[in-house]
Amino acid sequence: MEVFTYTRSTSAAEAVQAAAAPSSKFVAGGTNLIDMMKLNVERPRALVDINSLALSQITPAPTGGLVIGALARNSDVAVHPTVVRDYAVLSQAILSGASPQLRNMASTAGNLLQRTRCVYFRDTAHACNKREPGTGCSAIGGFNRNLAILGTSDHCIASNPSDQNVALTALEATIQIQGAKGSRTVPINEFYVLPGATPHIETVLQPGDLITSVTLPPPASGSKSLYLKLRDRAAYEFALASAAIVIKMSSGKITHARVALGGVGAKPWRSHEAEAALLNHPADAATFRRAADAALHDAKPQSENAFKVELAKRCIVRALVMSTTSA
Ligand SMILES: Cc1cc2nc3c(=O)[nH]c(=O)nc-3n(C[C@H](O)[C@H](O)[C@H](O)COP(=O)(O)OP(=O)(O)OC[C@H]3O[C@@H](n4cnc5c(N)ncnc54)[C@H](O)[C@@H]3O)c2cc1C
Ligand code: SF4
Repeated sequence: MEVFTYTRSTSAAEAVQAAAAPSSKFVAGGTNLIDMMKLNVERPRALVDINSLALSQITPAPTGGLVIGALARNSDVAVHPTVVRDYAVLSQAILSGASPQLRNMASTAGNLLQRTRCVYFRDTAHACNKREPGTGCSAIGGFNRNLAILGTSDHCIASNPSDQNVALTALEATIQIQGAKGSRTVPINEFYVLPGATPHIETVLQPGDLITSVTLPPPASGSKSLYLKLRDRAAYEFALASAAIVIKMSSGKITHARVALGGVGAKPWRSHEAEAALLNHPADAATFRRAADAALHDAKPQSENAFKVELAKRCIVRALVMSTTSA
């Protein structure tokens, strides 16, 4: 008989050691992991509860910017005065997701690591390379309306479902990690791994690695930011397409642009192509449409989600209009 263990760690070092055991998982808010366990999709043999660790603070970074503790709850991050003032895109992205009750539990790190909403991943009756490597992908040619069109592979077309992560990508956040061999920092754009032939590997985390914080660099002076999420209903729904924009203009031209997309990518999708199409151009309809076309140039729609190509383009254009005309 399998023995299941539950421990509550009181120090990060202790948590890292406990989670290095085979098939161990950290639990924070539990809003994703416990769901997965109920569905029999996640079957950890040991749960390491990290809720007693001192990782909930949101503090100014020594070199400017903001350090968000891994256990800072989504609801606290969204209303933090510095986030609202300097990183509006993050506040808006978080508030567009889930429900107030879920956001009260959901942690910053747990949100980073939430799993895909692909229906076949969540149903053990179906083949899924991400859940059971080598079994196949039921979504290719199946129900894939909500899945990805950028960064996919022949082995997996799952989308990253998070809103928070899209904003963090546009803000060029870094992720602080404590592991058995010490601490390290990884830029968010290098944190997620594309599915390729190994869709069960989603990030650069190693067994036992504990996320301790997320750091936002100082905001680009004079920039504005905005998150726009398009979905099937106005609340309590994941994105079909979303756009996170950080933009700055001078003398009518765009001098700084960061564009990230949600709902369409195998990972939170940074579009360097859109950014290049915006930089040093006037903030007008033609520029915005060119940027949107560039962002979706490599899109690979599936049987049910070709509509996402145009939807994502319109989402980018609308977000750019809103972010360059809002007060
Ligand atoms: C009904 C519903 C609707 C939702 N709608 C949205 C939505 O619209 N938009 C959106 O973005 N999200 C949505 N979510 C997802 C929600 O945001 C996530 O469930 C939540 O952010 C996960 O955080 P958690 O702390 O509960 O994670 P947990 O469930 O505790 O953990 C999730 C994963 O992260 C790992 N983990 C947690 N903390 C650490 C750490 N410090 N270091 C290393 N690993 C760690 C765990 O081991 C686990 O693998 C929804 C969820 C539900 C249930
Ligand atoms: S898209 Fe990915 S998660 Fe969904 S069934 Fe295919 S392999 Fe599994």
